Order: sequence, then C-alpha cells, then structure tokens
Amino acid sequence: MISLRWKLSLSYVLVAISVVCLVSLAANFLLERQFRDYVKERQEERNRQTVALLARQYQAPGVWKETTVQAIGINALEQGMIVKVRDAGGEVIWDATRHNNGLCQQMLSHMARNMSSRYPNWNGGYTVARYSAKNQFQTVGSVEIGYYGPFFYTDTDLAFINTLNRILLGVTVCTLLVALVVGVAMARSVSAPISRVIETTGRIAEGRYEQRVEHRTDIKELHQLTGAINGLADSLQKQELLRKRLSADVAHELRTPLATVQSHLEAMIDGIWAADPSRLKSCHEEILRLSRMVQDLHKLSKYEGEDLKLERTRFDLGELARAIVLNFEHEFKNKSVALELRTGPIPAPVLADRDKLSQVLVNLLANALKFTPAGGRVEMVIAPQQRGVQMVLRDTGIGIAAADLPNIFERFYRADPSRNRLSGGSGIGLAIVKAIVDAHQGTVTVESQPGRGSTFTVFIPAAPSPQDRE
Ligand code: ADP
Repeated sequence: MISLRWKLSLSYVLVAISVVCLVSLAANFLLERQFRDYVKERQEERNRQTVALLARQYQAPGVWKETTVQAIGINALEQGMIVKVRDAGGEVIWDATRHNNGLCQQMLSHMARNMSSRYPNWNGGYTVARYSAKNQFQTVGSVEIGYYGPFFYTDTDLAFINTLNRILLGVTVCTLLVALVVGVAMARSVSAPISRVIETTGRIAEGRYEQRVEHRTDIKELHQLTGAINGLADSLQKQELLRKRLSADVAHELRTPLATVQSHLEAMIDGIWAADPSRLKSCHEEILRLSRMVQDLHKLSKYEGEDLKLERTRFDLGELARAIVLNFEHEFKNKSVALELRTGPIPAPVLADRDKLSQVLVNLLANALKFTPAGGRVEMVIAPQQRGVQMVLRDTGIGIAAADLPNIFERFYRADPSRNRLSGGSGIGLAIVKAIVDAHQGTVTVESQPGRGSTFTVFIPAAPSPQDRE
C-alpha cells in the first residue's frame, strides 16, 4: 500500500512534469516556427536590398562601378549569398563563383552543416533566386542570388535558437525541482497531522484517554478532524473518570452502613445483644436508607453522562410548582415551617421534561424542609424571563458554610455528614438537580449564609438550542 505522503508528492511531480513538458513543447514549436518565418523574410529582404544596391552601381550601358559591385558581392558572400550580376544584354558583370569559388563552396557547406546540426534529416540544397535590377528609368540588368535553401540559419541564428532551448530546459528543470520541493512539503503538511491522529487514536483505543492530538494545522478539515478526536478523547476521559469515581464513591458510601448493620446483626445472632424491636428498627432504617441511596444512584446514573433523554413538552412551570407545593404542604405544616409560592399573573412556559423538572423542585423543596427548623419560612418564586423561566427557592434554614458551597452539587457531598446521615441524606439530591438542569442547558446556583438561610436559583431556557434538539 502506498502512503499518502508518497502519493501526494508523486502526483505533484507528475502534474508538474506534464504541465512543463506541454508548455515547453508548445513554446518550442511555436517559437521555432515563428523564427523560421522571420529568417525566410529576412533572407528575402536581404536579397532585395542587395539587388537594389547593385542596380545603383549601373552608370551607362556596359559601364558599372565594378569595385563597388565586387564589394557588395563579397559582403553578400560573407552572409551566405552567392551573387551573379548580368547587364541587360546578359553579359556577366560579376560572379561570386568566379571571384572565389572555394569560398562559395565553403559557405554553402557551412550553412548545410548549420542546418543539419539543428535538423538531422534536413533536406536542403542550393537555391537560386532571380531578380531584375532596375534604376528609376529602366531595367539595367539581372541579379541571381544563390544560397542554401529553402532557408538557412547563420551562426548567430543557430546560437540564438540553441540558447532559447537551453533556457526552456533550465526552466523545466527548475520547475520540476520547485514542484518536488512544494509537493513534498504539501504532502508532509497533510500527512503529518493524519499520522498524529492515527497514533493518538491508537493510544486512546488502548485506554490512554489523556492523549491528545497536539499537531497544529491550517487545513480546515484536518483542524476539524484533530478537534473531533480531541473532543472524543475528552468525553471518553470524562466518562472514565465518572465511572471510576462512581465505583469509588459507592464503595465508600456503602461500606460504613453495611458494616454497621452487619456487626449489629452478628451481635444479635451471637446473643451479645437481644434482638429487641428498637435494635431491629435501627437496622431496618439503615437498610431503608441504603435502598434509598441505591435508588437515587440509579436515577443519577440515568441523568448524568450522555444517555439522558429528555421528553420535552410545553408546559407552565408555575402550574407544576403549584402541584408540587400542594403535595408538600402537609409535611411543612407538620414541621411548622411556612411555605409560600409566588407565581405571578402570567404563565411561565418552558419546553422541557416535566417529570425531570418536577424531580428538581421536589429535591430542592425536600432539602429546604429538611434544613429549615420549625418556625422558619420557605418561599418559592417562579418568574418568567425573556429567554426562559427562573425559579428561586429561599429558606430561612441553617444555611451552608462558604467552604461547602462550591461542593454541594457533587455526588455524596454533605456539608455536615454526621448530622445528615442521621437525617437520612445521601448527598445525591443536588447532584440529580444539577444533572437535570444541565441536560436542559440551564443553570443552578446557590447563595447562602450560615444560620440565616439559603437561596437556590434555577434557570431553564424557554427553548432548547438547536444542537440539543437533534
Ligand atoms: P442530601 O441528601 O444530603 O440532602 P443533597 O445533595 O440534596 O444531599 O444536598 C447536599 C448537601 O447540601 C446537604 O447534605 C446539605 O449539607 C446541603 N444543603 C442542601 N440544601 C440545603 C439547604 N436548603 N439548606 C442548608 N443546607 C443544604
């Protein structure tokens, strides 16, 4: 199997090779064709200039400025043109082959060599172009210009076209090198974070939930991928912590009461204690407390973590509070604690899980009753707000010490364990409240002054946020 890095690098190089080759070939072909046309035109132009120059050397019938004609002819020969000048009667005035046949042949074979060095299969040959030489008034003679045809490259032309090709080759090599370097760098930047993700997920799968993908990348999808993996690790770690803490807490909570019941029962079996109703009753109460705790734990395990499913309906929180307060009235009266509910004139609608919110109100009211001595007062206020509904529960009870405030929503936390155990509290009620409120994306806060009372404030948003609704 081929690695992503290799595949990306190779594809970059392949794309670069194809593009560069195509561009070079096209450039080479077009430029060369253009250059050939230019050379042909230039040859034609030179021929005409030479003929015009020669015509100007005519002075009278049979009389030419022969030295200048010769100079022009020699100059043309040096440029690869073999000139023959005749007068109007057809008599040869000057002939390059006669003047220096050796040089003519040398020139022709030089041009032939130039052409075949560029085009190995070049099929050229000696070409003659005929022109009539005219001055302003008449035809004064004719000029034959012979050269290596159909066209030829001089040494400068050849040097030009070869340099051009070398430049194209240089550009090709440079582009390939750049493509290789950029390709490898790009491939690295894509494959490195993926490799990190693979390594990290492997370690997470082995149970090392503290592992995170640290790699930073500016590629959006890879950034999202590493974010998603880290999020996954976060929630796995949280779940694992929750699981470990739960088992530790449960073991710790159950150990003492079970040991107590066990030792009491053993003492009775061994006849050390008489199994009188009061001892049996105390064992029975302890067992009741234990089974309440197990029930609460069961509820909490359902509410905490990810598997809390809310059965949302639209209802008036004020109306729910009225029903619950009615149920509690008797208990409050028995303990001589005043209970008042204020719901205001307008309804307080929420889209929430009715059963679970009633559990919140019940737990908070039960605590208020439990921790408010006789003669005290408990007040519940339901107030609709712009984005949801607020529920405030104020009591004039024993209050909570500042040091305990941050912890009371923790599972099994009791501000005063010894007293609480006697009162039957297991320290789970507020953890359940918090789990339910969190699931509704609401908030629950507490303010308290020891000896003066506590105020719990719950806020439930009117409608769930879109991600919660999914
Ligand atoms: P419990 O079953 O012990 O009541 P909770 O989770 O409901 O467990 O409460 C945790 C602790 O918070 C209680 O043990 C108590 O110390 C404190 N607490 C809760 N509500 C009140 C209140 N209204 N007044 C005083 N203390 C309170």
